[in-house]
Amino acid sequence: MATTHLRNYIDGRWVEGSSGQSFDDLDPATGEVIATATRSSTADVDKAVEAARRAYDAWRLYPAPKRGEILYRAGEIMLARKDDLAREMTSEMGKVLAEARGDVQEGIDMTYYIAGEGRRQFGDVVPAELPNKWAMSMRHPHGVVAAITPWNFPLAIPTWKIMPALILGNTVVFKPASYTPMLAVRLAEILEEAGLPKGVLNLVLGPGGDLGDHLVQHPAIDLISFTGSSDTGAHISEIAGRLLKRVSAELGGKNAIVVLDDADVDLSIDGIVWSAFGTSGQRCTAASRVIAHRGVANDVIDKLVGRAKKLRMGHGLEPTTDIGPVVSRQAQEKVASYMPIAEKEGATIAAGGRIPTEGALGKGFFHEPTVLVDVKPNMRVAQEEIFGPVTAVIEVSSVDEAIRVLNSTKYGLSCSVYTRNVNNAFRFMRDAETGLVYVNAGTIGAEIQLPFGGMKSTGNGHREAGRAALDVYSEWKSIYVDYSGKLQRAQMDTVEKDKAP
Ligand code: NDP
Repeated sequence: MATTHLRNYIDGRWVEGSSGQSFDDLDPATGEVIATATRSSTADVDKAVEAARRAYDAWRLYPAPKRGEILYRAGEIMLARKDDLAREMTSEMGKVLAEARGDVQEGIDMTYYIAGEGRRQFGDVVPAELPNKWAMSMRHPHGVVAAITPWNFPLAIPTWKIMPALILGNTVVFKPASYTPMLAVRLAEILEEAGLPKGVLNLVLGPGGDLGDHLVQHPAIDLISFTGSSDTGAHISEIAGRLLKRVSAELGGKNAIVVLDDADVDLSIDGIVWSAFGTSGQRCTAASRVIAHRGVANDVIDKLVGRAKKLRMGHGLEPTTDIGPVVSRQAQEKVASYMPIAEKEGATIAAGGRIPTEGALGKGFFHEPTVLVDVKPNMRVAQEEIFGPVTAVIEVSSVDEAIRVLNSTKYGLSCSVYTRNVNNAFRFMRDAETGLVYVNAGTIGAEIQLPFGGMKSTGNGHREAGRAALDVYSEWKSIYVDYSGKLQRAQMDTVEKDKAP
């Protein structure tokens, strides 16, 4: 039964989309409708972008420390509502409650961290090459940012984009994933309550396929910050490239955990189970490959299969649940479609592999936690992002081969190596073609004070979080002040060595 109706937030008002239509927000564990959301049209996108443009000048001139105070208050509200937000998140996209709390905590961490940037945003002051001249750099906001986000971290990822965009003086049009409109509305409510002026953040709900091109092409959008699938990211980048718009894209992954023959195997199994099946394998950093040295491969497989078979599927709000559903029927079918693909290519399903049809599980979008073995590095299940509770074990005979296999996909987001040999650890730290490297820990669990993002086709070179986020949401401006009172020509009127004091 629908209990809530979710609306757009445009120019400081909660409004219906102009199409008069709505779409359903489902609980993926039950398939039931938990809310309806207004379905926006391109006319609503226009209104949101225009409101953001109107608000921009006042916001960019509002002192950054004061902008930080609003963000700090938003962090306080999030903290006070952490449990409610987490429960709604679990109901809306399925991850178990403890992980939903972690998602909210990451949003809080990011918000506090970025609030502090209101009093930093350092530029450089450097010596000038001419006398009586000043040289420095400062950040300048882009203008209006389109923040387009996925459903798998429905609070954390929007905060990664919206908070740094705001602290630097940009205004925002936020287009969240259609699977998670409720958490997007909650975030906008929190920022409104924290005192964000009208028009600074605008929320538009509705299908990206219909609204996306219009939003991306809108002449008043200056920067597109996108996290999602590689296909959508490539599509957006293509449109934005022709228009010379800035794009920050965080895309797919095919992350691996490497277990060397000197590893603590039991510790590695804990890391693999957590990284492969947490959030039902739908983290961008999920370990969908395990690269095991032959010296330990049988042990790894036996223990991993044993643990995967014991994981209890269920509603994420139930304390007994280890693994929730995937986000949608479509995602469930996509995951299931890889089982015959794996077998046809010669892999073996050693655990899981089925959609459960019995009882309450049959109503939701569940897929059994699955371990594939006899996998070769070039198989589709070892190359393509499945984005579900599936991990593929590949056996290797040496450290060199492990590094080669690790780097053999087009993606480059996260990896981990389990080893007790410091030399091997350093080789992976140096040679892994991934934006995140973990040693003796899983592939998930990034902290917001360091840059986050991927190499190769996982992105386009930008990083979110950490100080690196500031580079996405601002341009550098270099400023020279000549106080000599005469024309001084840089690179020409140089101070001669023999005239030096
Ligand atoms: P999608 O690409 O399907 O959707 C992401 C967002 O883009 C949604 O808001 C979606 O709207 C919107 N969108 C869809 N089509 C367009 C379009 N033509 N123009 C503009 N926007 C559009 O990805 P998912 O939501 O399925 O997210 C999962 C993917 O995200 C995985 O590949 C995962 O690896 C990646 N991801 C990457 C991360 C990273 O940091 N590298 C972090 C988290 C996820 P709608 O929902 O309405 O379709």
